[in-house]
Order: sequence, then structure tokens, then C-alpha cells
Amino acid sequence: MTSFTFEEEEALSLDEADPLTSLRDQFTIPQDPSGNEEAYFAGNSLGLMPKATPPAMLSALSDWGGKGVRGHFEGDESWYQYDEVISALQTDLVGAKQSEVGLMGSLTTNLHLLMASFYRPSKKRRKILIEPHAFPSDRYAAASQVSWHGGNPETDVIEVEADNPDHVTIDDVVNTLEKYGDEVALALIGGLNYYTGQYHDLSAWIQQFRRYEIPVGLDLAHAVGNVPLDLNKLDADFAAWCTYKYLNGGPGSISGYFVHEKHHGDLDLVRLAGWWGNNPETRFDMHGQERFIPRQSADGWKVSNPSLFSIVPLKSSLEMIHEIGFGVLRERSMRLTAYLDKGIQAIEGVESITPEDPERRGCQISVRVQGDAATLERELIRRGIVPDARDPDVLRFAPTPMYSSFSDIARAIRQFEKLVR
Ligand SMILES: *Cc1c(COP(=O)(O)O)cnc(C)c1O
Repeated sequence: MTSFTFEEEEALSLDEADPLTSLRDQFTIPQDPSGNEEAYFAGNSLGLMPKATPPAMLSALSDWGGKGVRGHFEGDESWYQYDEVISALQTDLVGAKQSEVGLMGSLTTNLHLLMASFYRPSKKRRKILIEPHAFPSDRYAAASQVSWHGGNPETDVIEVEADNPDHVTIDDVVNTLEKYGDEVALALIGGLNYYTGQYHDLSAWIQQFRRYEIPVGLDLAHAVGNVPLDLNKLDADFAAWCTYKYLNGGPGSISGYFVHEKHHGDLDLVRLAGWWGNNPETRFDMHGQERFIPRQSADGWKVSNPSLFSIVPLKSSLEMIHEIGFGVLRERSMRLTAYLDKGIQAIEGVESITPEDPERRGCQISVRVQGDAATLERELIRRGIVPDARDPDVLRFAPTPMYSSFSDIARAIRQFEKLVR
């Protein structure tokens, strides 16, 4: 095992040797109080702004100002099906066909829209199965879906029962299903857990759900742009993700979603419909006898016309990822994360709860500290290091392959160790 010093010189030479270090220059990096670039590890919460974004936004505004309503159909970047053009840039990232993905609304809203189709409780099967440490919004969404259908969230939202909730195993899934499998109407699983950073073995999990004929929805907020995904092959029924974390789409940017192609033609599947899910050929037929004709693709789940100003920043970011290639980024991500992990392991008194196996994690390392994580976070931020604390005792560090550096990591390790000591 290589041993690292985490001294500045070592980190600088690692940065010099890495072929993708200069990508950082394409981003605006926030500054600390003394005017130095921050060591930013919160890209798992909000990705940084590509420098290409402001001019792209200005150009979109200028189109609106110059064309008004004509902008829907005029010009190379007319708005009418612009979301579909940009959506096509996400197919590689999630392993889907173009017809299976779309952009609309926001993540939790989309989970609700998709659950409207895929959570259809019956007398016997009513439960929604979620993972331990599920993101609060997902838990609220699941509980309110149960209530909406007249059920009791206290009994009908259940978690995978895990011996160690920080590290869920396939045996935990198997055992939970043995107990409750026949009562579960939907599994709603965070692909990569936001708290522990564990990337679940989705293929193995979904195989188990299929044995009990349980529909599967995935929340990929922390997975997309971070780890490789293969949704079509995985046979997930639906998925949704936000684009402001690893996809750098900007605060509250438009959400991505997936509906497996096997469902596209199923007109018996209930959809909460709106005109944007209708066939574009007849979308504007408004003569009093219109009938909703859903598009036979993921687009059939759309409701409203999308916000242009939420798509444009995503475009600059997705184009950048495309140009570099996700595979290359993932390799760099693994190099950075391994370095961070080694540094954390060397600090006495803290413990990583993220899997050591690089295949079972993305770039995030979650560290359990002694005492209050929020205080440590505050102290680190004062020193120009930006992690993200989660109650009560977890600090998350996510070096992203696009703008984090070995130097950032070495700085963080040195400061973190001093503070912990
Ligand atoms: C970030 C995140 C969300 C956020 O939901 P929004 O609807 O975009 O506010 C939801 N679920 C998970 C797992 C997340 O990580």
C-alpha cells in the first residue's frame, strides 16, 4: 500500500500528473473569507457553476426578449422540444434509451407523479419499502402517498431491516422480503445513499424485488453523474434524479426521470396528465372534445411545459460531461476518492462509514466523528474547507472529478486532523 503524507508538495505533484486537473478552470470556485479558492466538497449537495453558464443564460434571455412567443418555434434552439434535445444528453449517464428519459419539474414532485402510476396499493399489498437512512423527502413522499390512498404510513412505510443500517447487505433485503414481500406494493430506493455514500447493488436488489413482483422506483439524486448506471438493463420501472448535485445544473434545476420502455404503451397505467404528456401533433387541438393521448415514451408522463431557464444551465454542464466522457471522469473520481479515503483512515478518532470497495461507492466519503458534526463543519468552513454535516455526527466530503483537486483533499485532511486532535 502506498503511504501518503498529505503534504502540499505531494498533492501538487499528484495534480500535475493527472490529465484532468485543468477542468477546474472551467468552473467558478467560491472563495473563502481571505479571498482564496475554497476546497469545495459539497458538490453532492450543490454542484458549482460552469463558466459557460452565464453567457448561455444571457443568450436565452436575449432570445426571449427578441422573439417573444415566436421563440417556441423559431431558431436553432427553439423552445418547443428543447427539453427533449437536452434530455438526450443524459441517456449515457443513466444507461437508458432516449425514449425512456425526460426532463421535468423537480425530483420529489416527479417521484409523486411516478408513484401515481406505479404505487397502486390493493387490499393485501399496500406497503412501500424504503432503505435505511432514506432521504427525508423520499420518506415524506412515500408516507403521504400511503395516506393519499387511505392507508396508514405508520405501518405501510417499511424499511429494509438491516443489522447495520450504515451498510445494507443483500441478505438484509432477502430477509426483509421473506417477512413482508407479499405485502409490498412498491420499492422506492435511493440508488446511492445520501448519508452513508453506499452504492447499493441495484441489480441484486431488483432481482429480489422481481421474485415478489414488486415494482421498483429509484431515487438517483446521488448516483447520476457520480457512478455508472444501467437503468434499462437493470429493469427498474421508474427513476428520478435532480440535476443540481453532480450534474451542476444550478439550484433547483430541472429534474431528470426514467420510465422503462416496457410501460410506454400501457394505456391502463394511470397518469396524472397534462398537455405536455400529450402527442405534440394534437397538443394544441383545443376545441372542446379533446382526449388525452399520451406519448408512447417517457414523455407521456410530462405535465407542463418546462422552464427554459432551468434547462439552459443544465445544457452547458451536460455538454461538458459529454465532451470529456463519463468513463474518464469516473476514473478520476476513483483516484481522488481513494486519496481522500486513505487520508481519513489515517486520522485517529474518526471513521469512514462509506464502503471501501470503489465499485460500491461514488466520490463521497461519509465520516462519523466524535461529538457534533455541525461544529466541525463550521470550523472547517472558516478554514476554507467546505464539507457537509448531517445530524448528529456525520461529515460528508465529496471530491468531484470536475473541479476538486488532490491539493484540496490534502488541505482538508491536514485541517481536519488538526481539528479532530
Ligand atoms: C437531494 C435529494 C432530494 C431533493 O429533492 P428535491 O425535490 O430536488 O428538493 C431528494 N431525494 C434525495 C435522495 C436527495 O439526495
